[in-house]
Amino acid sequence: MKRGCNSRKRILVTGGAGFIGSHLCERLLAEGHDILCADNFYTGTRDNVVHLLGNPHFELLRHDITFPLYVEVDEIYNLACPASPVHYQNDPVQTTKTSVHGSINMLGLAKRVGAKILLASTSEVYGDPEVHPQKEDYWGRVNPIGPRACYDEGKRCAETLFFDYHRQMGLRIKVARIFNTYGPRMHPNDGRVVSNFIMQALGGEPITIYGDGQQTRSFCYVDDLVEGLVRLMNSDDSFTGPVNLGNPVEFTMLDLAQSILRHVGSGSELAFHPLPQDDPRQRCPDITLAGQVLGWRPVTGLDDGLARTVDYFRTRLCEQGI
Ligand code: NAD
Ligand code: UDP
Ligand code: UDP
Repeated sequence: MKRGCNSRKRILVTGGAGFIGSHLCERLLAEGHDILCADNFYTGTRDNVVHLLGNPHFELLRHDITFPLYVEVDEIYNLACPASPVHYQNDPVQTTKTSVHGSINMLGLAKRVGAKILLASTSEVYGDPEVHPQKEDYWGRVNPIGPRACYDEGKRCAETLFFDYHRQMGLRIKVARIFNTYGPRMHPNDGRVVSNFIMQALGGEPITIYGDGQQTRSFCYVDDLVEGLVRLMNSDDSFTGPVNLGNPVEFTMLDLAQSILRHVGSGSELAFHPLPQDDPRQRCPDITLAGQVLGWRPVTGLDDGLARTVDYFRTRLCEQGI
């Protein structure tokens, strides 16, 4: 959809060279906006946005958001943060700094230029939940000193900062609690379950099931998630969230393994490994609020989304020998 020049906005996407960020940049460019993508390439890559570099309305900036950034923009999508347990536990102090110092800098920027700002928060703020499915008014059960805390508590503190800048300085904020999302441009080695299982199935290697495989997750296809983020940013200023964005259809990891093996046509065996510490037993969003306020719900089923994701990994394996 092309927009008139009056509605063209200057939009900063931090973490824009990552998995979700690159799809968001594409979507916002297609709507006719000017996009500044800021990324330190910690887990994202130029390859994810290389097809956008020739577009005069797209600018790629190598920048770490734990340092101040002085630019002029109308909206900020703050996505910068490693998202997979393997990546965020690799340098946990940097993970917390990215969520906390990074959010302070982006909120300071939003305050100076009067921009609207959205936080990509996470279902991890609910920790290993006793309430199921999770609604936004549930406060969560997070181990503050465990190996996931750098991410979970970092995001919880980022949410606190967003709400305090909103209450104290009147900033226009939006907080999205994103549940497990998958699709093309996931990092092939980031250890997340969908990319792991697909890579293992394509390589004919054993599928690594952690624990007994009965833990559950719900998987949202990336296009659906991006639609939710854009609707949230465009919602009335009175709506701050937090709002759950995810697919409420819940699967065990064993179900997921079987679906991926079927899609790939692989005969890989299942190999059982210990469950990582603090791994949530079950997770599924209640998306009633997103439906009511944003008119949003995911429309891509797991079979459809997996087919597109398997195609992506198959093509990459052929082209680049990853
Ligand atoms: P990703 O790792 O692919 O993307 C994160 C991007 O942020 C990368 O490009 C990385 O290089 C960049 N980055 C990291 N630290 C940075 C810093 N200090 N300064 C600048 N850039 C930095 O992960 P993703 O899956 O695309 O996740 C994007 C956002 O969505 C993250 O904030 C994540 O916490 C959130 N989220 C994702 C999921 C999911 O299932 N993918 C679920 C919940 C929340
Ligand atoms: N900041 C930034 N870009 C700006 C404005 C501020 O990166 O355009 C950073 C700056 O480093 C500052 C932080 O945001 O420390 C918080 O800004 P705020 O104005 O809230 O607080 P203060 O300047 O008093 O620390
Ligand atoms: N998992 C698994 N095998 C893998 C990778 C992950 O069984 O090779 C499990 C993991 O223990 C967790 C679920 O899959 O229960 C989702 O893991 P992921 O790292 O993708 O996301 P998160 O735990 O952050 O939801």
